[in-house]
Amino acid sequence: MNNSYLNPKCETRSKRGSGCAVYALRLITKGELVSLWGGTVITKDQLDPDMPRFTERVIQIDEELYLLTSAEKEPNDCFNHSCEPNLGFIGQIGLVAMRDIEAGEELTFDYAMSDGAPYDEFECDCGNPTCRHKVTGNDWAMPQLWKKYDGYFSSYLARRIEQLRK
Ligand SMILES: [Zn+2]
Repeated sequence: MNNSYLNPKCETRSKRGSGCAVYALRLITKGELVSLWGGTVITKDQLDPDMPRFTERVIQIDEELYLLTSAEKEPNDCFNHSCEPNLGFIGQIGLVAMRDIEAGEELTFDYAMSDGAPYDEFECDCGNPTCRHKVTGNDWAMPQLWKKYDGYFSSYLARRIEQLRK
């Protein structure tokens, strides 16, 4: 039994260059719940970058808290970053469709929607004209992303942005 929920309209397949990816099998409509991660809540001090599949298993869920997914690989570990994503956050552990998604499309979110610390920084090659090329733990602070992802940031980042907007 999986710890996480994945909408049955999705499946995980291997993808060259990034291990695996999640794809839509059928039309997913805007606002539909796509994924809910389950796992263990850990503190910043318990992060262990040397553990196997660290960046696949860890997602930041609050200022000092992270969710660690199960040691056994689950389909929900396979959502890749895109600078032009079709999923956004609901709460801290849920992903919803930001627009209608056609069968066959890869399902992605922007790691700027969830990352508020530098635990998973990388070079992006998503191929979109809007690609930031380097994805960092500070990308959430870009005002152009506040507009683009309004209502789709992880709850704790939405709180941070609200403070900055005052
Ligand atoms: Zn990119």
